[in-house]
Amino acid sequence: MTTPRFDTLPLAAPLQQALQEQGYTIPTPVQAQAIPLLLQGRDLLGCAQTGTGKTASFSLPILHAIHERPRAPKPKGTRALVLAPTRELALQVAKSFTTYGKNVRFRQTLIYGGVGQNPQIAAMRGGVDVLVATPGRLLDLIDQRCVDLSTVEFFVLDEVDRMLDMGFLRDVKRIVAMLPEKRQSLFFSATLAPNIVQLAVSILRNPARVSIQPETTTAERIEQRVAFVDRDHKRPLLELLLAEQANAKEAKLTMVFSRTKHGANKLAKSLSMAGFAADAIHGNKSQAQREKTLERFRMGLTPVLVATDVAARGVDVKDVGLVVNYDLPNEPEAYVHRIGRTGRAGASGLSVSFCANDELDYLREIEKIIRMEVPRWKDHEWYLPELEEHYRRGGRGSVPQGQRQGGQGRSGGGQGRQGRQGQGQGGQPRQGGHSSSGRQGGYGRVAAVGGAPQRDGGGNRSRGRR
Ligand code: AMP
Repeated sequence: MTTPRFDTLPLAAPLQQALQEQGYTIPTPVQAQAIPLLLQGRDLLGCAQTGTGKTASFSLPILHAIHERPRAPKPKGTRALVLAPTRELALQVAKSFTTYGKNVRFRQTLIYGGVGQNPQIAAMRGGVDVLVATPGRLLDLIDQRCVDLSTVEFFVLDEVDRMLDMGFLRDVKRIVAMLPEKRQSLFFSATLAPNIVQLAVSILRNPARVSIQPETTTAERIEQRVAFVDRDHKRPLLELLLAEQANAKEAKLTMVFSRTKHGANKLAKSLSMAGFAADAIHGNKSQAQREKTLERFRMGLTPVLVATDVAARGVDVKDVGLVVNYDLPNEPEAYVHRIGRTGRAGASGLSVSFCANDELDYLREIEKIIRMEVPRWKDHEWYLPELEEHYRRGGRGSVPQGQRQGGQGRSGGGQGRQGRQGQGQGGQPRQGGHSSSGRQGGYGRVAAVGGAPQRDGGGNRSRGRR
């Protein structure tokens, strides 16, 4: 099947015009499959992660229907309800509706927690065409009789896997129970585990299925590497990567993932002290702080963002060239989401994961779901061949004491030769001028990370040894 162009899809002229202005001519696979089905009024079960263009795949048909069949919304009511697991994703979705619907007359509002509820109540008073909401605050406002779901025609559940991970199952079920029987329902999830399919079956009616396999996106656009390292050497290895990024001809943004909020804060602080302009984003920060942090990141003022999984949902920044998994996630699906922060909108990206001896089981789970071996990165000073060997033999947990040699008595925890390259003087942010730097070329010296893994991976090890 050849991919159609947007202008061959029966989308209303104001939408075609907005797409043209965005420079979108070819629908992504999920859009090419989903949009025609949704225009026919079908329910949809979509297996697609962020970065595949799924937001446009549901917002365009909804905007089309609103444009073709304009109707005054009922006070406190909405015609379309999109449920998203996080504030960031909700904001992102609303932004897409604004972009694609810029030539359509429609009213939209957002409801999410962490901010005052009065403006949200006021915005709902006259009713809207599109409401994008997170489940908890939406239920609060429904309970206070400030929102009425009885006129919903389109219901979208976005990133359901994450929604369930965050414990929203009961809330989602309560919300679904308030929707009218007659509606069009769309359900998107990056994975279709049995509990997710069960929920989908209870919500959808004879749904069309669209599946965009994560491995297509992970394998094709994003170069992945894993570095087997000692926990103490993650920090110098990260500095090495950041220095490479800062010195690259085409400086790009870097997202670093940490498993805990505390870890994210600590890492961002110590990177800043070391001269890398870094900030942290996590669930303990207020909505205003998170938005400010994201904006500074997007602009390249703080080109290193340390994030936890939850906070990173919905972060859609086009110029992220590098994702570092400082800690491997304990849920393998999170890996796919994390690395999907790079390689956005058709760009290419690099993801480097650090695997210490207590993370072997996490790596095993990840390789199982992406159905490939993450290429090894050996060409660095802190490579631990014995840990890789232990992993290769199916070892779980830690490397037995007797076999551990690497990582001991090496380069003093971070002052290895390469680790010092590119460090700024006097604590000046090395990447501060990022946004004005030229954007061509590759990853600079980091290209070595993406190069073919060396046969003699231990070659560099001896350098750091005493
Ligand atoms: P999403 O998966 O919805 O988060 O979208 C990922 C990114 O791709 C967003 O930055 C969109 O603006 C962009 N995008 C969506 N559809 C297209 C398209 N057909 N052509 C080019 N970029 C697109």
